[in-house]
Amino acid sequence: MQEKVPSIKTPLPGPEAQKVLALDHQLISPSYTREYPMVAKRGEGVAVEDVDGNVFLDFAAGIAVVSTGHCHPDVVRAIQRQAGTLIHMSGTDFYYPLLVQLAEKLAQITPGKFPKRVVFGNSGTEAIEAAIKIARYHTKRHRLIAFMGAFHGRTFGALSLTASKTVQRRGFGPLLPGVAHVPYPDPYRCPAGHRAPECVCDCVCTEFIEKQLFRTTVPPDEVAAIVVEPIQGEGGYIVPPPSFLDGLRQIADRYGILLIFDEVQCGMGRTGKMWACEHCGVVPDILVMAKGIASGLPLGATVARAELMDWGPGAHASTFGGNPVACAAALETIRLLEEKYVANAARMGEYIMGRLADWPHKHPIVGHVRGRGLMIGIELVKSQETREPNPEARHKVIEKAFHQGLLVLGCGESTVRLMPPLIIEREHADIALEILDRCLSEVEK
Ligand code: PLP
Repeated sequence: MQEKVPSIKTPLPGPEAQKVLALDHQLISPSYTREYPMVAKRGEGVAVEDVDGNVFLDFAAGIAVVSTGHCHPDVVRAIQRQAGTLIHMSGTDFYYPLLVQLAEKLAQITPGKFPKRVVFGNSGTEAIEAAIKIARYHTKRHRLIAFMGAFHGRTFGALSLTASKTVQRRGFGPLLPGVAHVPYPDPYRCPAGHRAPECVCDCVCTEFIEKQLFRTTVPPDEVAAIVVEPIQGEGGYIVPPPSFLDGLRQIADRYGILLIFDEVQCGMGRTGKMWACEHCGVVPDILVMAKGIASGLPLGATVARAELMDWGPGAHASTFGGNPVACAAALETIRLLEEKYVANAARMGEYIMGRLADWPHKHPIVGHVRGRGLMIGIELVKSQETREPNPEARHKVIEKAFHQGLLVLGCGESTVRLMPPLIIEREHADIALEILDRCLSEVEK
């Protein structure tokens, strides 16, 4: 691909893109949520070229999936080698070395020095389904606690935990019974009403579980698991106060409840550590991962304390889950992450956060900048006084950025999220921030 990124040569969408869009509108489910008409042809590193030859700087990474960038040569080689050797075998009925090699690696790099077992699927939502089933089966309890704003996927079990937007649930009920949603502690919008300058209390959330939920509607001895994103993703890139996960760990331990961390979006090095929960040293009983694990090949994994998988043959499995090609891609991805890209995410995240620090002063519509590593959210507001979310401004900023060659997406009600591949360098960050800075100023006018 050419050197200069970004490079926009046609009006957007260009003529070739328009042909694809016309067919897409006719054939593809209208439930997909496209915010702008980007029609990709190929990707390389941090760049994506569209079907008209326009080149974009990708700060969305296929929604945090291409952790090692688009088509990393080492990952491509691993995929090609494996595709020429064994594409499929089905780990449900046969054995192959890659499945155990990846499981061994995951057991080694996930928090907790205890024996673990792994079950593979093809997506985040499937990995969550597996976690729910493990928790219910092992504890013989049926209730689950999840959080407002959470996104865990769209299959029925995961959807029952998801509480990000009503559109995701409307029309599909009744969902799984026994799920209770409690507030997620957002330091910028503290449920206790604290405002100055950033609340670090998680009182409303952890106290709510013990002092209200467990005394009124949810008998704790019926709760199988608490399911939580260590950093909330679709809900707005919300970094909870440092004590939050530990508070949940303590509640879980007090009542024999399992603690499940959904690191589908915040895991695999995105936050500058391999796992987001490592920032506060809290170890879950079950860790769920997917997005960044195989640089774009479909793979999800549920890693649990070994003794929790006390189910027998047939209780849970997936034909394609952990297929050899995805496993090969994952092993190569993890090698690269460990070798350099997790550290790069930490370094570049710090650099970007440093550059964004004064944006709430400089830009009247920037309410709050937050994040860890390369999981960064810029929340847009109507006024910094009221902190009222500004989804219209967010949409305009994202669309303008697209027209200037930068791919970003939204999350929460009015947050722009930055989730580039973990390979970015300073020059990419500088270009992205220049474009965003300009777009914000244009929208402010
Ligand atoms: N969990 C989290 C935290 C997510 O962000 C997502 C997807 O965005 C999922 C689960 C569901 O993953 P998938 O779309 O692969 O089913």
